[in-house]
Amino acid sequence: MNFLPGAEVDLRGSNTLGLPAIAQWCTDIQDTADLPATLDFARSRGLAIRVLGGGSNVVLPERLPGLTLRMRSRGIALLEETSLAYVVRAAAGEPWHPFVLHCHQQGWHGLENLALIPGTVGAAPIQNIGAYGLELAHFVQEVRGVDTQSGEPRTLDAAACGFGYRHSVFKGSLAGRLLITDVVFALPRAASPVTHYAALAAELSGLAAPDHADVLAAVIAIRRRRLPDPDLLPNAGSFFKNPVVSSAEFWQLEARWPGIAHWPQEDGRVKLAAAWLVERCGWKGYREHGVGVHEAQALVLVNFGAGTAAALLALARRIQDSVLQRFGLGLEIEPVLC
Ligand SMILES: Cc1cc2nc3c(=O)[nH]c(=O)nc-3n(C[C@H](O)[C@H](O)[C@H](O)COP(=O)(O)OP(=O)(O)OC[C@H]3O[C@@H](n4cnc5c(N)ncnc54)[C@H](O)[C@@H]3O)c2cc1C
Repeated sequence: MNFLPGAEVDLRGSNTLGLPAIAQWCTDIQDTADLPATLDFARSRGLAIRVLGGGSNVVLPERLPGLTLRMRSRGIALLEETSLAYVVRAAAGEPWHPFVLHCHQQGWHGLENLALIPGTVGAAPIQNIGAYGLELAHFVQEVRGVDTQSGEPRTLDAAACGFGYRHSVFKGSLAGRLLITDVVFALPRAASPVTHYAALAAELSGLAAPDHADVLAAVIAIRRRRLPDPDLLPNAGSFFKNPVVSSAEFWQLEARWPGIAHWPQEDGRVKLAAAWLVERCGWKGYREHGVGVHEAQALVLVNFGAGTAAALLALARRIQDSVLQRFGLGLEIEPVLC
């Protein structure tokens, strides 16, 4: 039993934006066997439960009331090999990128496009992480967890997870209700490398028949080139979601703004590049009050060291206002505002 909650715990090192934040109570969950005692502790004191993985998709306030659980549980197991798929279970606290590498090395393919995304396995379903033409939803068989109020175990199959673009039931009706302990993946035996995403296709253009190892190397190379490393420049990746509009709305926008960056969707709608919109409003490289917009990536807000959540959110609001005024489009913040 490792359950030792600390009081007034500094979380600056537990969020990739490096924002100053103090948790009223905090404990690391190394072993899910500790969860009943942890939830009892919270219940007996009337404390709300908050869950943190790697802190790479949150904006933490300066003070977090309640009990914050940092998921550090580990373990990866091949549960089953069927004629169609490798069924693999990973504990919530497993760091995501090493998990992707492990699967690749075992010959369990499919996750390569999602390499180098920061954070943990347990957080991956929350916003249905996606990159370079693939989303997590493609591979999830079930999500296992514990109800934060009753302590009862719950298992949701993929359909019950309500996955959408950077969305799931865990951000919707179950927000704050389910502590994810494990994710079970079905990785297809016949997974073909997915290379259609433009930047990835360009990176692989010299290869006649790229394989999974080529995709993995290409995704890592592109990400290292394009995205600021949070260890060097604190950030939470994309700060805004790409807005999705109807084709009719898109035609109107394109007539007014030729060259507007976009990706047609399978359902006929069109996803617009939020980075393009933010850049056209002149924000790239902007700085104020210790925070700013990355000089090469208009979608990435950064903390230059002295930033606070208040300064960051004030800047985000001004960016949202300017995009709304200029393009008539509302930008939604991607990280979870805790
Ligand atoms: C440089 C950079 C690049 C990024 N690139 C991408 C990208 O390409 N695609 C993409 O989709 N995202 C990207 N992200 C965002 C982020 O990495 C992902 O959303 C990631 O899944 C967050 O994992 P985390 O463990 O850090 O979650 P946290 O930030 O710790 O938590 C995020 C949310 O999930 C909840 N949560 C975490 N763990 C659990 C759990 N076990 N049970 C219940 N709730 C939980 C938290 O309460 C919070 O609401 C990027 C971030 C950075 C910093």
